[in-house]
Amino acid sequence: MKNKASVVVIGGGVVGCSIAYNLAKKGITDVVLIEKSFLSSGATGRCGAGVRQQWGTKQNCLLARESIRIFENFKDILEINRDIELKQKGYLLLAYSENELKQFKKNIEIQHSLSIPSRLVTPQEAKEIVPGLNIDKLVGGAFCSTDGHANPFQVNIGYAEAAERLGVEINKFTEVKGIRVKNNSIIGVETNKGFIETSKVVDAAGGWSQQIAKWVGVELPIYSERHEILVTEPVKPMLDPMLMSFSFNIYCQQTPEGSFIMGYGPENEPPSYNMNSSWRFLETMAQKATFLLPSLKDIRIIRQWAGLYNMSPDKQPIVSKLNEVEGFYVACGFSGHGFMLAPAIGILMADIITESQLTYDVVLDIERFKRGEVIAEPSVV
Ligand SMILES: Cc1cc2nc3c(=O)[nH]c(=O)nc-3n(C[C@H](O)[C@H](O)[C@H](O)COP(=O)(O)OP(=O)(O)OC[C@H]3O[C@@H](n4cnc5c(N)ncnc54)[C@H](O)[C@@H]3O)c2cc1C
Repeated sequence: MKNKASVVVIGGGVVGCSIAYNLAKKGITDVVLIEKSFLSSGATGRCGAGVRQQWGTKQNCLLARESIRIFENFKDILEINRDIELKQKGYLLLAYSENELKQFKKNIEIQHSLSIPSRLVTPQEAKEIVPGLNIDKLVGGAFCSTDGHANPFQVNIGYAEAAERLGVEINKFTEVKGIRVKNNSIIGVETNKGFIETSKVVDAAGGWSQQIAKWVGVELPIYSERHEILVTEPVKPMLDPMLMSFSFNIYCQQTPEGSFIMGYGPENEPPSYNMNSSWRFLETMAQKATFLLPSLKDIRIIRQWAGLYNMSPDKQPIVSKLNEVEGFYVACGFSGHGFMLAPAIGILMADIITESQLTYDVVLDIERFKRGEVIAEPSVV
């Protein structure tokens, strides 16, 4: 392992690897990435794999649209031979009240201002898109045909490979144990395999980001919470888009191999680092899924797991330098949508570190909370 670097990135999830790659692409090749376990061992490898542009804030819509453009051309842009299994069969968002439908209409106006091809659908049209859908109590929905899902492992490892090709050093199974600061400036990173001298550290440690920031005396306004998820046996294709409902609190997709992946947000669960699975989740998930898609009643579950959502106050990412400590940067608070935004986030963080003009017109710095410039994302599960 190198003992000196221009930038040290903490975290080998999709965000850390996208940042490392984009730094190298911008000419900062002397980057060391540290991952305490294997690549994708955090939220990235545990996620639902959905990529959607149907958000309720302009920033999330823009970053998702730009990221999908990168997913669409991933091999060419990164110059790698890796299939990320992008399947663009849409996201069908389900509304169970007039209020929800009103919110979808507002969201669609924002999405159309960015040329995102979303539209409102009636319950009958929703059934045409997903013939097996139970439309009892459904008031309407929203659909965007270019949303979909991709394989998070392939994307994460693709970024890592491309970064390594450009000179980034990736150290797996290496843990950052502390950060050394002198006169309010970063001077290096302590790992279980030695010290790395550096003046710049990126905290891309996902659910553990707030713990890392504490080492430099900064209290980030984020917290982590458990989200559970499961996968079924593969069955014949029957669901093209990702199905999602905010009020019913569920997402569900069928992978190209035929397995269903589904999950929901925790109900009344306190912030924690708990990643255990629960029986209660299986029961509740089964009830929700068979209400939406009754033909799933006999399907077998083959595995369940859990991961951490890292939540920010406005449910939008924090991608920022920190004024308190010179050379300390954070990319955290993804609030359940960090996989789909990672391509654009890597570009933004590389802009911030190199003090370039931001590629995207967004305000994700941490000072926005102090300034009161907060527009909360209304459409999260
Ligand atoms: C159940 C679930 C479903 C989700 N579904 C979706 C979805 O459909 N679409 C979507 O876009 N997003 C989804 N998300 C959110 C998404 O997974 C995350 O926002 C995204 O993966 C964050 O990536 P990351 O690289 O920031 O974090 P992570 O992938 O968690 O990576 C952080 C890494 O930092 C490492 N690390 C931590 N501390 C240290 C240390 N001290 N030293 C070295 N390494 C360290 C960890 O081991 C970890 O690998 C979901 C999340 C969960 C849990």
